[in-house]
Amino acid sequence: MEISITKAAASELKEKPDESDLGFGNLFSDHMFVMTYSAGRGWHDAEIKPYQNFSLNPSAMALHYGQAIFEGLKAYRGRDNKIRLFRPQANLERMNVTAARMCMAQIDPDEVLTALKKLLDIDQDWVPSAKGSTLYIRPAMIATEAALGVRPSTEYLFFIILSPVGAYYPEGFNPVKIFVTDKYVRAVKGGVGHVKTAGNYAASIMAAMEAKEAGYTQVLWLDACEHRYIEEVGTMNIFFKINGEVITPPLNGSILPGVTRDSALTITKAWGLDVKERPITIDEVLKANENNELEEIFGTGTAAVISPVGELYYKGQSISINNGQTGPLAQRLFDELEAVQYAHQDDRYNWMEKLN
Ligand SMILES: *Cc1c(COP(=O)(O)O)cnc(C)c1O
Repeated sequence: MEISITKAAASELKEKPDESDLGFGNLFSDHMFVMTYSAGRGWHDAEIKPYQNFSLNPSAMALHYGQAIFEGLKAYRGRDNKIRLFRPQANLERMNVTAARMCMAQIDPDEVLTALKKLLDIDQDWVPSAKGSTLYIRPAMIATEAALGVRPSTEYLFFIILSPVGAYYPEGFNPVKIFVTDKYVRAVKGGVGHVKTAGNYAASIMAAMEAKEAGYTQVLWLDACEHRYIEEVGTMNIFFKINGEVITPPLNGSILPGVTRDSALTITKAWGLDVKERPITIDEVLKANENNELEEIFGTGTAAVISPVGELYYKGQSISINNGQTGPLAQRLFDELEAVQYAHQDDRYNWMEKLN
């Protein structure tokens, strides 16, 4: 794939943000990658160019029928000042699974990774160095054919934008309060819960808003049929530690196969812990709590990496997990992942992809 490169003029370069106040997802780097797909021609016009608005036809199919998908991964500036990506192939392969489910065009993961590395090389000064900060990478694809009618678009736009983000927990972990919803559901088997398609997030906003109004940070999602089996927490996968056993729900078709989930499973197995991917009901969690066997709950996802859960609210009852404190397993996993991502220790799982 040939990539044409147009660099922003020096006078157009944005001022670099204050690294102590990056927040999440509000700032974008100087450049972006875009390429265009047309049926019969495949991907073409690959370009790295200054970050800028798109021009879209009002009848672009993504705007009407929701063929819009994305990924999220991060680049880390290591202790040695080298920039590394965390498991980028896993994200690009997952994007193809999402694209296939949404009847969208497949990408070539190797070519897109090469393009991403070029983009990162040009915007490398945007990878922050403050402790816990990273460059969040957002690949996305939208249907751009100008036509009304429910069918696969024959044209797509693929793009990658970069956003420097601060440490999720700058003052150390702050365990989140979780609202277990039995009113809304996120995903159902046979649907699209196992892929990263934009509509899933639009559909989740109302539950999140109601949880927020009630004083909770996130929603815990139960299965759509029986409202008993635990699926995910917010936009993260979920783990429990009950009486020594580490448990996460299996990938049953309505759960997003998180790269962080997979990494947490690999690490906890390597530590010799008793780890199981098995169904777990909200009743089992409440019973374990009554029996003093519920040790920890935490979420896993690229944004926060590990997010300890300090409280659960379900049907009028509130339970405190590990006295609202971060548990030792969540802390140990976070420390291990951080050590790998920022190259404080060897890349023993072979997860990091160097920029050059
Ligand atoms: C992205 C996402 C996750 C976490 O996946 P990672 O690859 O670990 O970032 C979990 N659940 C949902 C619904 C997601 O969208």
